[in-house]
Amino acid sequence: MKILKFGGTSLANAKLFLRVVNIIEKSVKKEQTGVVLSAPAKITNYLADIIESKIYDDSMLKIVFISENIFFQLIKDITNIQLSFPYKEVKKIIQKEFNKLKKIVKNIILSKKCPENIQAIVLSRGEILSVIIMKNILKSKKYKITVIDPIKNILAIGNYLDAKVDINQSKKNIENININKNDIILMPGFIGGNEKKELVLLGRNGSDYSAAILSVCLNAKLCEIWTDVDGVFTADPRKVLNSYLLKKISYQEAIELSYFGAAVLHPRTIKPLKKFKIPCLIKNTTNTQSKGTLISQENDVEENHLKGITHLDDITMITLPGFIINNEEKKILSIVKNFSKKNIKIILTTQSSAEKNISFCTFEKNIDKILILLKQNFKSKCKDILNYININKNLSILSIIGSCIYKKNNFLSKIFFILDSLKINIFAITQGSSKNSISIVIKKKNILKAVQNVHNILFSKKKIINAFLIGIGGVGRALLNQIIKQKKVLDKKNIKIKVCAIANSKKILLENSINLKNWQENFNKSKEKFNLEKLNSLLINNSHSNSVIIDCTSDQYLSQQYVHFLSKGFHIVTSNKKANTDSFKYYNEIRNTAFLENKKFFYETNVGAGLPVIKTLQNLFNTGDKLISFKGILSGSLSFIFGKLEEGLLLSEATKEAKKRGFTEPNPYDDLSGIDVARKLLVLAREAGHSIELKDIKIEPILPKSFQQYNNAEELLFYLKEFDAQFLHLIKKARNEKCVLRFVGTIEKEGSCSVKIEKINKKDPLYHIKNGENALTFYTNYYQPIPLVLRGYGAGNDVTASGVFSDLLHTIL
Ligand code: ADP
Ligand code: ASP
Ligand code: MG
Repeated sequence: MKILKFGGTSLANAKLFLRVVNIIEKSVKKEQTGVVLSAPAKITNYLADIIESKIYDDSMLKIVFISENIFFQLIKDITNIQLSFPYKEVKKIIQKEFNKLKKIVKNIILSKKCPENIQAIVLSRGEILSVIIMKNILKSKKYKITVIDPIKNILAIGNYLDAKVDINQSKKNIENININKNDIILMPGFIGGNEKKELVLLGRNGSDYSAAILSVCLNAKLCEIWTDVDGVFTADPRKVLNSYLLKKISYQEAIELSYFGAAVLHPRTIKPLKKFKIPCLIKNTTNTQSKGTLISQENDVEENHLKGITHLDDITMITLPGFIINNEEKKILSIVKNFSKKNIKIILTTQSSAEKNISFCTFEKNIDKILILLKQNFKSKCKDILNYININKNLSILSIIGSCIYKKNNFLSKIFFILDSLKINIFAITQGSSKNSISIVIKKKNILKAVQNVHNILFSKKKIINAFLIGIGGVGRALLNQIIKQKKVLDKKNIKIKVCAIANSKKILLENSINLKNWQENFNKSKEKFNLEKLNSLLINNSHSNSVIIDCTSDQYLSQQYVHFLSKGFHIVTSNKKANTDSFKYYNEIRNTAFLENKKFFYETNVGAGLPVIKTLQNLFNTGDKLISFKGILSGSLSFIFGKLEEGLLLSEATKEAKKRGFTEPNPYDDLSGIDVARKLLVLAREAGHSIELKDIKIEPILPKSFQQYNNAEELLFYLKEFDAQFLHLIKKARNEKCVLRFVGTIEKEGSCSVKIEKINKKDPLYHIKNGENALTFYTNYYQPIPLVLRGYGAGNDVTASGVFSDLLHTIL
């Protein structure tokens, strides 16, 4: 004997109904089969809308008509496929059922009351009709059927809406039914009967429970729950994209997964199966090939010890203060436990040892009942207890389930880290009594992002970086190309870079994970404008941990938002020097915020492009070294230009060539003015501990100030020719002295900084630096009299992008 249960999602339309028939037929060929059916999808929800409505008017009847029409359509569609289906007969039965329902609803409207026994009758209509339809399809295919009436046979104790089954009595009842061996057994799920043989319900989603009960009652060797997903996943697959199917789980794990919110199983389903050692297989009606999830005594040791993440919403936490409890914890806990007799589920309790407060969590719908009970219980001690208890609403419980979860190394620290980085407060945390679960109470508004991110960190082997790229000039583009090229290598190292946004000053392309192969095409198509408002909403709505803003612009305004970015939980990687060369106050503010927020602020490419300058210095200074002095060629563009001058090019020609090769800033005036070198020098000086401002750096520009007026590259290059002769003279003069000209940045011992053209003789290491190379010579306590020299290309899109890329990877390393 095997029991098959089909949920509402498996009975949503005619095609699915007939697919279910197929599955039943296959099973029947092998062994006797019992079938438990839910109501077709959405029907129970419609019926619930009727009984929950507080407006007692014809709108209630309207819902009855909608439900009736769904059934009419369903049998019409079934008849179109299964021609032998007795359409007229079944239509009459449906009409009769709905006429009864209309009478009931009219009474509800008149009396403005809907007691629980009536609610149960209304809610159960879907299951009754599912069985009638299925019986007639099977009969039309010449199968013999026995329908088990759950009201007569499934004895259920408790209230009308959420009763618990007396398995022993139900087993006796069903064993007494004379079922022919060749019959297919049908039973509506969700329904039981109390001692008075009145209809009661087994709680929403209760057909799973019915199937488990029938499995026990008929001594089935397997209970199959057919639904719309392949089985039990590590998290709800509709909410967590990279959740995966669990092939096997233990009874206990399934109990805890369903108790803490995995909707795929009604929480009471597994206990009876566990008691009678009946395995349970969860299968997908629309993907019968999938092997599903087997729930049994065995646990899949091959798999992760952690089994799943679930959540329960609409939770309220009630805290009783210590002075009320006053050494009577046991009594209080027993009061709380007694709530269950009143059908109030307490999901978890916590106790603080210092203040002796006791907190417990329940569903929001129970609050009123609980407050009444608390008032009654504390009448003698405290006149108005309600003034002292704390009620915290709009919460959710996130639970992590797995065998012996407490033994898992650093698993809690990972969860805390991730919740902290998402700025999610924890209201309470408890370990389940079975030691197979940990539950954390957080605000409901945060639950989805918490579930997704906790799932990622615990279940995904991959470390994910969520990148938001602003600036798609040479460096931004080169970065995207490098990310594409490096994908396979990073995959092997379990690192995944998800680019979630690409923006320039005008618009933005936003996707959960942008396909980089055709990003340009999609970016061109994007109609989304990019501005501060857009950026702000992006920051607020971001639900990923490990999110990084990459600033590949040279925008001052953007650089002034860094503190804001950090405080919203983003790391920052920037090639833009504007933030680090803003006021010293802002410079410190960024670092303080990054420290407080536990976020990374990386700017390796601010000096020397991809050369390892900043991190090298930080390593030296963090471990006790001190800068004595510095001298260097810090501009790739000027290194190139001055090199070309040696070869005989005029200043305008050399500048044009440098621009063409992508060595200069968009307007080469920024290079020739010396300001860009001054900014780099300032970054270095501040790194070395000097509290100076940009204005403190003495700049001897290459060009006269009058060139400042040319605010675009073309104009500048045109007028630069007028200056060629004057400059040629300087070069010749240097050559006569066997020297070359170099644009040099210097930091003196006491911290004074300057940038200027210097005559450099052959002995100086800077003599050979040209063609875009940079050279940085650091005299430090440890590196003297021979200085530490860093030398290499200090400009160019690829080297700069690789520096940005390396910073990006360091955010998770
Ligand atoms: P049925 O109508 O078959 O009873 P339900 O809607 O009650 O179906 O249950 C199936 C749904 O449970 C899935 O569609 C899925 O969204 C949800 N679900 C929640 N948690 C899990 C999980 N851990 N694994 C699988 N499904 C889950
Ligand atoms: N139809 C009922 C519900 O929606 C029972 C079930 O589907 O299991 O809650
Ligand atoms: Mg269900």
